Amino acid sequence: MYLDSSKATDQKTDIVVVGTGPGGLSAVAGAVYSGAQVVSIEAQPRIGGNSVWSTGWVAFVDTAMQRAEGLQDSEEIFLADCEKLIEKHSPQYPISWDVELGKRPLQASVNRLHAVEDTEMFPQAFEQDFAGPNVKTYVNTTAQELIIEGRAVKGVVVKANNGTISAFRIHARKGVILATGGYQANPALRSRYQLRTESSSPAICLDTCRGDGQLMGQTAGGDLINMCVIPPVVIVASAMVQEAIAVNAQGVRFHNEAGPYYDRVELAGIIDVPAKALANSVRSWNDFLASSETKDPQTGRVAFSEERKRIDKAPIYAARMVTGVGLTCGGFATTRSMQVVNALGRPIEGLFAVGDTAGGFTPTESMGGTHLGGGFVLGWVQNSRR
Ligand SMILES: Cc1cc2nc3c(=O)[nH]c(=O)nc-3n(C[C@H](O)[C@H](O)[C@H](O)COP(=O)(O)OP(=O)(O)OC[C@H]3O[C@@H](n4cnc5c(N)ncnc54)[C@H](O)[C@@H]3O)c2cc1C
Repeated sequence: MYLDSSKATDQKTDIVVVGTGPGGLSAVAGAVYSGAQVVSIEAQPRIGGNSVWSTGWVAFVDTAMQRAEGLQDSEEIFLADCEKLIEKHSPQYPISWDVELGKRPLQASVNRLHAVEDTEMFPQAFEQDFAGPNVKTYVNTTAQELIIEGRAVKGVVVKANNGTISAFRIHARKGVILATGGYQANPALRSRYQLRTESSSPAICLDTCRGDGQLMGQTAGGDLINMCVIPPVVIVASAMVQEAIAVNAQGVRFHNEAGPYYDRVELAGIIDVPAKALANSVRSWNDFLASSETKDPQTGRVAFSEERKRIDKAPIYAARMVTGVGLTCGGFATTRSMQVVNALGRPIEGLFAVGDTAGGFTPTESMGGTHLGGGFVLGWVQNSRR
């Protein structure tokens, strides 16, 4: 099922999927569903991408879980939430959001966040597809460049990471799907879109998120959008769990730890906090969790879940918070079937982008759950509309 590419040679298939995060996982599943032959390429030793390292919150609309809780949600409410958020952030960034693609999930006016018990479940859910007879997956293998004939993309050149053999070519009869995620781990590429001081902040993600897809797709004429939307995040064990709060140097909570991420940055840091103030912060958070309120009166942080875990059991950990980058929002402008378009809006034959490599949907990131959810949906949409 997962092959070592060190003995591989030139080959042909229907579809090549580069990257196996949420976008790549569902793109492979979609290709299998349509009966196509697919070769998937993953630079890491295993499939799953950043989904395995993520907090695991996924946003979807009008789900069985929402209905069971009596929550009313719809694509319309979701779209209105997206529009509100884009409007809010547009003074900060020149954001462009593809309304055509916008029929997807997120958190805002309705609780749409669904959590997996264990993020290993994301790749596990797709193992059956990857085990199918029409799928070949090369791990520890990196796509290096696109094969372009005329103006059409015809395949990829790939190489084993251990460098045992020279690169080989995979020709794709139906197209190449770029699902290589973002460019968080590539400070040089980030510095083209961020101030130099910001572009060197650490990335908390797989080190293979170097923007390879964004770079390769440009060689075929793909049009990148939203590249300067690189939201800072304060690196904390988990921003979303209830048994974690953040306090400032005075030992006092200062913001809603569950978002929006932008507010966290300038105030973050814990050093030598006064014990009494810290104890008060912990006590008032625990009091809120013990109440029936859903909104913390101090900061507006929302705790929807029924299981309200308090900070009261040893061992209790503290971590200094530093600013970094968890994900990026820039990627290709695409058609509704995720086909990459050029600067004139014309689709490029044989080239598709999904997940964080597609740029039209990702600016909704601060709603939570839309990167994983968006990745899973866009990978599938790509197939169903082709
Ligand atoms: C700590 C953390 C917590 C997060 N929590 C959440 C959350 O709770 N909810 C949410 O919605 N989002 C969350 N995210 C964001 C989410 O994980 C990503 O946005 C999402 O995984 C992107 O999916 P993707 O398929 O586009 O790419 P990725 O998951 O980034 O996967 C890309 C894959 O492509 C591979 N690749 C890259 N270049 C090449 C190449 N040249 N050749 C072959 N393979 C290549 C990489 O190795 C990687 O496996 C979190 C991210 C982090 C880092």
